[in-house]
Order: sequence, then structure tokens, then C-alpha cells
Amino acid sequence: MTAEQTAWMAGTALVLLLAELLFGRHRGLYRREDHLVNGLCTLIGMAITRPLAAMMVAAGLGLLHPQHQGFLAHWGLLPSLAATIVTAEFFCYWVHRSAHEAKGSRYFDWLWRLHRTHHSGKYVNVLLVFRVNPFWPFVMPLPWVTGFAVYAGQLEAAALAIFLFTMWGLVTHSHFRWDDAVRRHSVFGPVIRLAEHVIVSPGIHHSHHGYGRDGGNFRNYGIMLSIYDTIFGSLYIPSGRPFRYGLPGTNADWREEVFFPFFRKKSSEADDVDDRSPASPATNIEAG
Ligand SMILES: [Zn+2]
Ligand SMILES: [Zn+2]
Repeated sequence: MTAEQTAWMAGTALVLLLAELLFGRHRGLYRREDHLVNGLCTLIGMAITRPLAAMMVAAGLGLLHPQHQGFLAHWGLLPSLAATIVTAEFFCYWVHRSAHEAKGSRYFDWLWRLHRTHHSGKYVNVLLVFRVNPFWPFVMPLPWVTGFAVYAGQLEAAALAIFLFTMWGLVTHSHFRWDDAVRRHSVFGPVIRLAEHVIVSPGIHHSHHGYGRDGGNFRNYGIMLSIYDTIFGSLYIPSGRPFRYGLPGTNADWREEVFFPFFRKKSSEADDVDDRSPASPATNIEAG
């Protein structure tokens, strides 16, 4: 992101965070471990590993194939941006989906454990955007695809794509759920449901972070676009908020949440309760 885009992103995150705090949406949510995980993930991820992953790909490709550097530089900004977003979403969809489906598998459980940190917060609000294991960017294709775009001569499109993905992440993780009211509207309700087959709404992503009624980690894998969820059959449009946010059971040790795979605790199987089972009969306590 450019300095101006970073300022917009940080400003929007701060405004949303302040509004959530003022409306009491963070009250009683956190334990000491949450502050450590949120703080360290934000600091290390945003300052070091997210940009590093993209820079490594751009620099690596430049070293390996210098003759092709800038081979798409003649493309205009809009087609480059569209191609970057659609391609990044495609690869992110499959890696994200694989991370969830790898949960408990013999050889790929590490992929779930890298992603788990983003799901172990028992809440959804703007802080969750940055609660990502710092090493996840090395397997998530967003930095890879944007790094490739930089190598191909599309620095501006790459920066804009990262900016849009992050800004949309703030919208979809915000605790404010404007889409609930729209979805209940007699005229605009069907329109937003149709749009949700293409664009990820807060409702769709909140559902991905929930379990029980109207929740489910095994659907809605898109970040900004839900086209691949629609195409590959994992789209779920909820009617309200999920029964609970986060993962069933106790979270892993905070050091494992931040430093996995470099820190593992033997006894951290606690949150590996299988939440693939159908919705619990609980009531939708947070609806609206
Ligand atoms: Zn996920
Ligand atoms: Zn999320």
C-alpha cells in the first residue's frame, strides 16, 4: 500500500474501532491472552511478514526471470486491478478452504493451525482483521499474487488491491451489521441476497466466524468476492448472527497462536472440537 492508502486504512480502522468501543461492543470480550495475540499479530504481521511475503515473491521472480520483469507494464490500471483481485481471490479461496478442511488431518493439520488464530477470537470486530498468525501470509496467496503483480510491472494495481482487500476486511469484520437491516427490507432484501452471490457482506463473513445456528467455518471462504463460494458450492447466506463466534472449546496457548509453527504446545488440542456437525438447537441470541 502507498503511504496515503495506509493512512486511509489505519484511519478507517481507528474510526470503526472507536465507534465499536463507544457503543460498548468490546465490553467483557477479552482475556489477557487476547490482548497479547491481537497486539503481537498486528505488529509482526502488518510491519514485517505481510509486506515481506509480497516483496520476497517480487524480488525472487525478478532474480529468477529478470528478462520478463515488467512484462504486463503496458496493461491499464483497471484491467490489472481486476485481474489481480480475481486471481488472488481464486487462490485464496482454495488455500483458505484447504486450511479448514485440513483440520485434524494427518499431514496438513499445520495449515489449519496457521489459520486457526484468525478464528480463535470469540468475537467479530475490526481487531479480528489483524488477528492473523504472522506466518500465515507466507502460505496465503494474496501476498504472492500481489508480489507477482509487482514483478509484472503493476505496482499501482498491487498496492490498490491490497488496500481494497484490507478495507473490505474492515467492513466485513466490523461489529456493525448494517446488512441485517437491508436483508430484512422487503425491496432491498432480495437485492442484497443476489449481490451476496458476488460480493462478501458482513453477514456472510460473520457466519464464517461462527458456529451453531447461522454459523459455519466450512462455508463462505471469499474475502471480497463470493463468486468462488457460489461456483464451488460453499456459499451460505445467513438470516442473522451466528449462535456463537470463535471456536468451540478452549483456545490454544497464546504463544502457539502467535508463533506457530515455531512454538507448539503438546496439550493444545483443546480447540480441536469438531464443529462440522449440524447447527446446535440453540437460539439465535445475537440476532439483529
Ligand atoms: Zn477461515
Ligand atoms: Zn475473518
